[in-house]
Amino acid sequence: MIDYKKFKIEVLDPISPTFCVSKWHQADFWLETGMTSSCHLPSPHKIDLFEAERNVQTLHNTKEKLHQKQLMLQGDKPDGCSNCWQVEELDSDAISERIGSSYNMQEYQNDFTKLDLSEDHIPAKVTVAFESYCNFTCSYCDASQSSSWATDLKINGPYKRILGDSRNTYQRLGTSNRLSPEQYQFVSDKFTEYVITNLSEIKFIRCLGGEPLISNVFWKFLNSLIEYDCSNIVLSIVTNLSDVTRINKFLSKYQHKFKRIAINASIETIGKRGEFLRTGFKWEKFQDNLYHLLDKDVDLNIIATYPGIAVDGMVEFLNWYNQYRDRISLDLYRLRFPNFQAIQVLPTELKKIYLIQIEEWIDQNREYFNTAIFNVGLENIVTILKDECTIYDNVGIETLQQSAKEYYKQYADRHKHNIRNTFSEPLANWILN
Ligand code: SF4
Repeated sequence: MIDYKKFKIEVLDPISPTFCVSKWHQADFWLETGMTSSCHLPSPHKIDLFEAERNVQTLHNTKEKLHQKQLMLQGDKPDGCSNCWQVEELDSDAISERIGSSYNMQEYQNDFTKLDLSEDHIPAKVTVAFESYCNFTCSYCDASQSSSWATDLKINGPYKRILGDSRNTYQRLGTSNRLSPEQYQFVSDKFTEYVITNLSEIKFIRCLGGEPLISNVFWKFLNSLIEYDCSNIVLSIVTNLSDVTRINKFLSKYQHKFKRIAINASIETIGKRGEFLRTGFKWEKFQDNLYHLLDKDVDLNIIATYPGIAVDGMVEFLNWYNQYRDRISLDLYRLRFPNFQAIQVLPTELKKIYLIQIEEWIDQNREYFNTAIFNVGLENIVTILKDECTIYDNVGIETLQQSAKEYYKQYADRHKHNIRNTFSEPLANWILN
């Protein structure tokens, strides 16, 4: 069993009690908005295009990120990492993403004391979202990340009566902070230059969308990259696994150019719950496409991101996943935004039901659970379910609960889903009453 606590005490704490290796070794980029972050949790911030022209390394090491690193080195807590601070404050023994992801970064660097405030530091892991083209309209996504969502809002108009969501997630088309076409071209070119410049240091590239396999910019980027030696890089894509033809094309073009190919399929609930949560998702087809990949020489992973209502089907999902656990790895996260969809917002009585189900599952699978990569993510969900939250994201829980109910009713209407036939009775009653 991984001793995260020992790692925290012996490796992270001597540097600082708030030190997180992801701030250095993980660089996330959203090209359409020209933004960056250090992992999927903090809200991203703008890349300074003038700075990027001066020094391409500032694409990752923005002034903002250097400031966050400085705060961490002096033991302060950058605001954007509040998700980790919240988990650590709720339970001092909790293994937050900060500790879990830092532990995993030992694969890339042994001595973290060498991490400093250099503008030229090169991360080991890069994640990039090229474009928002997507054929799915998942319930927790939005128009800034999915072209299908943008189309839905254009045709059917904004969602109504959603209160407490300061981001106005479903009232906007997500275009206001997009770069102009010229700026987008500049950032895309700079990103390609950034990766090629740092090719010998970067060990892992993960490509997101929308759905990356339908993005021309994604294919163009990879074609530029394979003109160089990529044999030290693991290339990973996050896909909704809806199009096996494009996956085959991707594998035949790039499989032998990179050290490894990793295919991450996004799914957090199975069957009809999955089809509700991820409009466009077809459970039978997903299984066929997954079977197709099982005997390919690729790393397979499932990325499961949990909004509150997905916890309703979590145990069924874990039992389904169990049959593949020797072949497919699992990363398990909790959704943070839109705020009214977060696990925190569920009513206490539902949290108690799910807590019993999940703790029972952990007990029955204890030996396996202790060694599973996803145990940190699942423990964090358990910690959140135990919290009788009254405020989340600075908004009263009752307001967010009302918004969640309103939202799911409208979402179900728009996409012809049936809440009562999909979810457990307690959850359906909560949403519909
Ligand atoms: S949110 Fe947590 S894991 Fe992400 S960079 Fe901040 S401290 Fe690290």
